[in-house]
Amino acid sequence: MSYIQRYFIIFLCLVLTLISTSAFALDIKYVRFGNHPDKVRMVLDLSEVTDFRAFILSSPTRMVIDMPTFSWQAGQVQKPKSSMVSDIRQGKLMDGISRIVFDLNQLVKIDSAFLLPKQGGKENRLVIDYSLATPNQFNQNKGSIHGTLKVDDYKKVPISTQQNNIPTPPKNNLRPNSNKIVKKKPLIIIDPGHGGIDPGTIGKNNIYEKDIVLSLAKELKRQLISSGSYRVLLTREKDLFIRLKNRVQFARKHQGDLFISLHVDSNKKSSTHGASIYTLSKKASDAQTAKLAEKENQADLIAGVDFHVEDKQVAFILSDFLMNDTMNQSKYFANILAGKIKAHGIYTLQNPHRYAGFAVLKAPDIPSVLIEAGFISNKKEARLLNSASHKKKMAKSIHMGINTYFKNIYKNEQN
Ligand code: ZN
Repeated sequence: MSYIQRYFIIFLCLVLTLISTSAFALDIKYVRFGNHPDKVRMVLDLSEVTDFRAFILSSPTRMVIDMPTFSWQAGQVQKPKSSMVSDIRQGKLMDGISRIVFDLNQLVKIDSAFLLPKQGGKENRLVIDYSLATPNQFNQNKGSIHGTLKVDDYKKVPISTQQNNIPTPPKNNLRPNSNKIVKKKPLIIIDPGHGGIDPGTIGKNNIYEKDIVLSLAKELKRQLISSGSYRVLLTREKDLFIRLKNRVQFARKHQGDLFISLHVDSNKKSSTHGASIYTLSKKASDAQTAKLAEKENQADLIAGVDFHVEDKQVAFILSDFLMNDTMNQSKYFANILAGKIKAHGIYTLQNPHRYAGFAVLKAPDIPSVLIEAGFISNKKEARLLNSASHKKKMAKSIHMGINTYFKNIYKNEQN
């Protein structure tokens, strides 16, 4: 083969690559709703004919459309009142698949969903006809899939909607796949706060936060492992200093399904006591919580890390579509936890679930909570937190919360 022939073949390959990549770039160009006597017709103009799947989810009511990775060119969509759509969000569901979520303010059912290829000056269109449903019809139809897109075997990226509702279930390998069951246990990342040169808060009788939370983490791990239902990793197994950022990176590297950071608190007022649970938000729920987050976030300063520089990168992550959804799942888990901790007879602060900008909760794709198991500045609680029996009880309540969380997530799973 001559040089000229060889270059020509390379050139040809390049051209073909360019053609094929552009051919598979899917754009959502326009979304509109049409009101008909018996239905709403939603039409999505697409740059390509594509596979899709559409279905309805409950709690809250949503219509979901999955398609191969697309680029959203539709901008802000007009949502007439008759569309029953209150909000539209879209983003990446997994590698290769994007999702559009339509929040609905009525119970609806999908009557039909189909693709119309380009014709007579009209774009390729995905058409979804839907209509009001009675609660019975809704329950019968929700979850049934329209379309043929196969979304198996992917890395989960949870997508959900408004806070405190059961989120759209994350996908995982627990679901029976026809007759073969691919079973992968959820991975729980437990993060004992502080460690090494950072003792955390120091309580009555000179007890250190870093020691209490490490033994609590080990007890929780023991319980979760012996249940046989989970895989567990600790961000530290020893008295080691680990940067906040690295704790988050650890969870992401191992693709954790849930991240639980364990801490204990202290207060000038020695009578203050009770457990509390925290999830991430840009704005703290109260001044006390804002201060707590500030204190916990200072862990890195102790090792001389310039936290503010890193916080800029974190702000970018926070703006991500996925971050909001993960935050909602975290809140959902935190509320379950608060109930379980109380149910186990453990005293909690008033409004035990609070929000603030904790740096360690910033994994954009892993639901994360931070538990302050109590106050070691309170004599009685310090003694409790230092006792094996109380740690067992606390770990048990967290364990039960994890069980409920995953049970609900899988119950709501869709194909
Ligand atoms: Zn702490």
